[in-house]
Formats: sequence, structure tokens, C-alpha cells
Amino acid sequence: MYQSISDTERPRDEFAASDHILALGAHPDDIDMFHGEYIRRARAVGAAITQAVATAGEETTEDHRIWLWRILKRHFIAHGGREQEANKAAKRWGIPPQNVHHLRFPDGFANSDNSSSHYIDALTLSFIGLMRAKRVSKVVTAGAHGYDQHPDHVAVHLAAARAVKFLRLTYNQRITLFSLTAHNASSLQLPVNRHAKLWALIAHCSQFAGYRVFGRFILPKHTKQYLARYSAVLHQEAYVMQ
Ligand SMILES: [Zn+2]
Repeated sequence: MYQSISDTERPRDEFAASDHILALGAHPDDIDMFHGEYIRRARAVGAAITQAVATAGEETTEDHRIWLWRILKRHFIAHGGREQEANKAAKRWGIPPQNVHHLRFPDGFANSDNSSSHYIDALTLSFIGLMRAKRVSKVVTAGAHGYDQHPDHVAVHLAAARAVKFLRLTYNQRITLFSLTAHNASSLQLPVNRHAKLWALIAHCSQFAGYRVFGRFILPKHTKQYLARYSAVLHQEAYVMQ
């Protein structure tokens, strides 16, 4: 049976030092974009954070840098370029390298009707392993609509929801899933520390090129345009609990 969830477990009360939080993303920059503020607050109270990124983002890398076109882009990804960017961002949040996991599932598979259910099955197993091993108490995803409907974001959420349910039912693990949503902000809204978030995002310099000079950000036009797509999460992150 499901553990009942009382009001005291609502996220507004919940950034305890005893927590171990698993932040999930489909692509290397998802966690910082969707969960940056959540991570910042959890870190501030001393909670442990583990990150897991499902893919290396080989299908979703933006051509923001001229030198990243085609062959060079492939070379960059094949040599773990985007993973290194994610590691750098994690370091900026104070997350130790051993807590950053790159699962290296193929990017874009969730788009295919034939393979998506197997893909979600495999992701679910990976997440269960991590959630068990790290005794994770909270999980954050982009939500059932993947925030921007991206099928890979949705796949990660579905797999996480199944893994959480399995661990509650089978091992009675106290674990709660929080999902980001731009539409239903009834449970928790986190006004974003934009500076901290931008600092993490520009670690992904193949996606969000930019510089911080004397505490101010210099962002090229491409980066501003890309960030504009996610302006809701740049200013406020909203979570619902499942
Ligand atoms: Zn993504």
C-alpha cells in the first residue's frame, strides 16, 4: 500500500539536511534549467544531491557555437563535451563528482513509438537502482508534460514515477516525487535566484554561451533567445508533489 502523505511532507517544509535528493534530466542541461533553484535551496540546508542525466544530448545539442557545426559537434559530444559541461555546473552547485551520473541512453529514442516503452522500462530500472543505492528521499522531474512537451523529458518523468511507486510498494522506501510544472503551482513556488541559475547554465557553454565579469553576465543574442524559451523557469520554479 502507498504510504500516506501528510501535509507536513509538503515541499514547502521540506529541505532537510537528512534528505537525499535525486534530480533527473533527459539532457545534460535539463537539471540546471528545471531544478536549479530547488538544488540551490536543498544545498543551503545541507541536503545531499545526486544527479542523473539520461542521455548525452547528442540529438538535442544546439548549434550555438559556429565551431560546433556538424562533424565538430559530433566530435564534441562523442568526447563527452556536454557531460563535462554538466559536471562543471554540478560543481557550481557544490555537488561532488561521484554524485553526478551519466546514464548514456540514446538521445531521441523516446520519440519512436516502437522503442519508447522499452526505453522507459530500461530507464525505470536504472532509476530504481540509483534510488535504492543512495537511499533517495526525494526525486525531482520536469513533470508529466515534460515542461515543454519534449518526449525525452516526459519519458524521464514516467520512468521516475514508476520507480518511485515501485520502491514505495516493494521496499516501503520513504520517497516522494516532485514535478516541475509551469501551470499547476499549487504546491510550491520557488522564486529563483537568477544569478545562481545563470552561473550554472553558462557552464553548459555549448548551449548557453556567456560570461560572468565582475558579477555581471554578458550573454550573446543566441543565449538570450534560447533562455527566452524558458523564461518561466528562469524567474520561478513551481513544483507539485505526487
Ligand atoms: Zn532537455
